[in-house]
Amino acid sequence: MRKNSSLLLSAALGAAVCLGPLVSAQSPLPAASPEDRALAREIFKQLIEINTTDTALGNVTLGAQAMQKRFLEAGFPAEDVHLLGPDARKQNLVVRLRAAGTPTAKPVLFLGHMDVVQALRADWSTDPFQFIEKDGYYYGRGTQDMKESDAALVATFLRLHREGYQPKRDLILALTADEEGGHFNGARWLLEQHRELVDAAYVINPDSGGVELDHGRPVVADVEATEKVYSDFQITAVNPGGHSSRPRADNAIYELTTALNKLAAYSFPFEMNEVTRTYFKNLAEQETGQSAADIRAVLATPPDKAAAARLSAEPSFNSNFRTTCVATRLSGGHANNALAQTAQANVNCRIFPGHSPEEIRHQLIDILGNSKLTVKFVSDAGDVSDTAPERKAIVPPAPMKEVFEPLARITQALWPGTPVTPVMENGASDSIYYAQAGIPCYGYSAIALERDDDRAHGQDERLPVESYWKSLDFFYSFSKAVGDAGSRE
Ligand SMILES: [Zn+2]
Repeated sequence: MRKNSSLLLSAALGAAVCLGPLVSAQSPLPAASPEDRALAREIFKQLIEINTTDTALGNVTLGAQAMQKRFLEAGFPAEDVHLLGPDARKQNLVVRLRAAGTPTAKPVLFLGHMDVVQALRADWSTDPFQFIEKDGYYYGRGTQDMKESDAALVATFLRLHREGYQPKRDLILALTADEEGGHFNGARWLLEQHRELVDAAYVINPDSGGVELDHGRPVVADVEATEKVYSDFQITAVNPGGHSSRPRADNAIYELTTALNKLAAYSFPFEMNEVTRTYFKNLAEQETGQSAADIRAVLATPPDKAAAARLSAEPSFNSNFRTTCVATRLSGGHANNALAQTAQANVNCRIFPGHSPEEIRHQLIDILGNSKLTVKFVSDAGDVSDTAPERKAIVPPAPMKEVFEPLARITQALWPGTPVTPVMENGASDSIYYAQAGIPCYGYSAIALERDDDRAHGQDERLPVESYWKSLDFFYSFSKAVGDAGSRE
């Protein structure tokens, strides 16, 4: 998925955001040396030039092996470098930078997917699987999503190791397969099959979040601090059918569309959690007029219903206030002159943290209000089942100070004056599996991109060279900050 899927409506405004004591004085960061940069660039190039699409030409394992080789050659002990996975072409790499002695705090997991979305040479002005530097940008599939972060993290772990850095807790890097699609999601597989390798106090996933630029000016740094759960449901109406010259009283198409119209008119209950509350508090400082008043009114206890309704007219607010379910596909009938025997719709839900897909499936049955219709769950792999998973994303705790303090401080040093705000992701990333397992997840790429230059999954994907260097400096300082925080617990 993609970073910077910001919920900020009026993000154009860059006022300071309160996340506890932000450090305003900018202490210089230890910048990467020319040698560090050269190595980081070489790793980035290598990853871009290994095709990791979920196609006949793609192979994630080759990327994982290339990185494995680097860690082993750098002197990481073999028992701390694991190459593993359920499929020969979809192997994952898990590397552990060990704490000195016996740590008291759980590790920090850095999670990055190595697979990329398919890219066709004919659609691009350059070869998408060639790493090309041009006009201050790196071009290639994965330069925004998310080989830049994979490479920066590999380079960071290698640098920390070379410098003899000993964290107070283990730092783990997992590079995984099949985030963008495919049947072997590595992040999930590692959690379910080898939890001991990836178990952590929290997850940092650079697949979302980052710094938004407006004509070069940093406007806001988004940190994904919670995520909705993606779920598809298949709604089916069946009928004996017959000749269309003799319509029956019951009809699959009408029954389905009548039910869908009920869904269209329905609004799931208004909700807030610690993350969206912080987000809206920050936003209230920046908005003006009715909008600011409405946001304050929904932050009150109890929230003002009229204000919530007015704000909900804006889709980005609405999606932050509640679970949403919307019909996205429709099919039915088999001939122009026959009564439909089947009518079917896909309903896509984005479920607010704290609710399970099965709970929403039951709600859908109530909302659709026709016991003749079936409501089934469709998995990511396309399998249809009568019931849905019971697992839900945890209701997020207030953003952890241990994460946000260094994150904000280092962001300030790199992009002075940029407010940092937690957001709820309405898309989906691999973080959701960890959130469902009760592990807090934070999405932050430390990549600065122009708002109108989001090319993830698109043509001529590119990353400003300067952005790459900054993310490298970010991850170095941030890894040490969270690594040193291990003794406080
Ligand atoms: Zn991604």
